[in-house]
Amino acid sequence: MSPTVLPAACEVLVIGAGPAGSACARTLAQAGREVLLVDQHEFPREKVCGDGLIPDAHAALRALGVYDEVMDRAFRAQHVRCVAPRGGHVDVPGTLAVLPRRELDDIVCRAAREAGARFAAPWRFVAPLLDGERVVGARLKGPDGEHEVQARWVVLATGASVPPLVAAGVCERRAPSGVALRGYVHHPELAQTLRELQIVWHPRLSGGYGWIFPGPGGVFNVGAGLTGSHATEAGGRASMRDVNLRQMLEAFASVHAPAAELLERGELRGDWKGAPLRCSLGGARWSRPGLLVTGEAAGSTYAFSGEGIGKALETGLLAAAALLEGGDDAAVRARHEAALAGLKPRFALYEKASHVNHRPWLADLVVWRARRSPRILRRMSAVLEERQNPGRLLSWRGITKLMFE
Ligand SMILES: Cc1cc2nc3c(=O)[nH]c(=O)nc-3n(C[C@H](O)[C@H](O)[C@H](O)COP(=O)(O)OP(=O)(O)OC[C@H]3O[C@@H](n4cnc5c(N)ncnc54)[C@H](O)[C@@H]3O)c2cc1C
Repeated sequence: MSPTVLPAACEVLVIGAGPAGSACARTLAQAGREVLLVDQHEFPREKVCGDGLIPDAHAALRALGVYDEVMDRAFRAQHVRCVAPRGGHVDVPGTLAVLPRRELDDIVCRAAREAGARFAAPWRFVAPLLDGERVVGARLKGPDGEHEVQARWVVLATGASVPPLVAAGVCERRAPSGVALRGYVHHPELAQTLRELQIVWHPRLSGGYGWIFPGPGGVFNVGAGLTGSHATEAGGRASMRDVNLRQMLEAFASVHAPAAELLERGELRGDWKGAPLRCSLGGARWSRPGLLVTGEAAGSTYAFSGEGIGKALETGLLAAAALLEGGDDAAVRARHEAALAGLKPRFALYEKASHVNHRPWLADLVVWRARRSPRILRRMSAVLEERQNPGRLLSWRGITKLMFE
């Protein structure tokens, strides 16, 4: 493996070529900025994910000009089936698609290169270069040793990984917000009939949910995960709950027949893999002099659903916009932080709504009501399309309304 040669300096160094970093790099390069995008892995590479593209991702992919390429390869679906503990379900209409991250991320990263960004891998971010308190570049490690790159600005888009946040001096919480496990299972027969995204709540999966997302070529992304997995200890330190995701997956198969069918009769492609999530725009500082933090590194994944591709792309675009407007250090940082702060109320409502994951009986109530009320189903669809916040539907007030309306 020979790493791409690195320049000694660039205008903007974007670290991490997932959706956030690549979206940021493409936008900056399109505007004529000299961008170096680096990643610790050569592309294409896998990223542990459910691969579900919900409407916010569709909108961001359109803004980036890669929508058609993504949709040509993706499995497209018209609704998500929400399955409640007693087995009742409701199909919520929405613009949905599934494409393995190995392909999706490669498309967005390639789009950044096509716009003129220089991509170099495998280079791992080790530490920032400092001039006093200001970040003026980064030290990167490749297979043959370390290399320093000077940069006017550094954008940290390293996802849910903690070491880069710590190294950059922006980590405020090491424990993740959630953890999840996924595998790819080939089952062409089931693919004839299971053509929607499925999300399943059940007391055996309490604290989270299981999912089955049909992808291209009769391959399903199957998984289970916990949201809000970090508990706050005395003293305010957050720590990981003891979680056995394998057991959770087995529990999923024991309560949901299609999951059992996939696990028992499908062909597993690759390994089951788990990964952390960082949610609700928390856990890290959003900037420091010379450095902007974006995507899941800034906690851009939704706590309720664990979805984060769309918001990673969006926040990558916001970081680019903050840089493109120019001005001094303080002005760029203030713009970036204000843009993230503008999203915070929406994230707070998704955090609130995530209590359904801890009280699965709520899913029974919502599904039961939605099956009888086209208006409630429309509201659920509006939540999926981000025209309405889930907090309104799943707050105690919303639930009381559901019960007594
Ligand atoms: C099991 C699971 C299921 C999920 N399902 C969904 C789903 O169905 N839909 C959805 O929308 N979201 C889902 N998510 C969330 C989604 O994966 C994230 O929100 C999204 O990947 C965040 O994008 P990002 O660009 O910020 O970070 P990432 O996609 O994690 O990209 C970060 C990049 O930085 C690189 N990197 C990390 N550290 C370094 C370093 N030190 N030096 C150089 N490079 C580095 C990585 O190699 C990676 O390429 C899921 C997450 C998990 C764990």
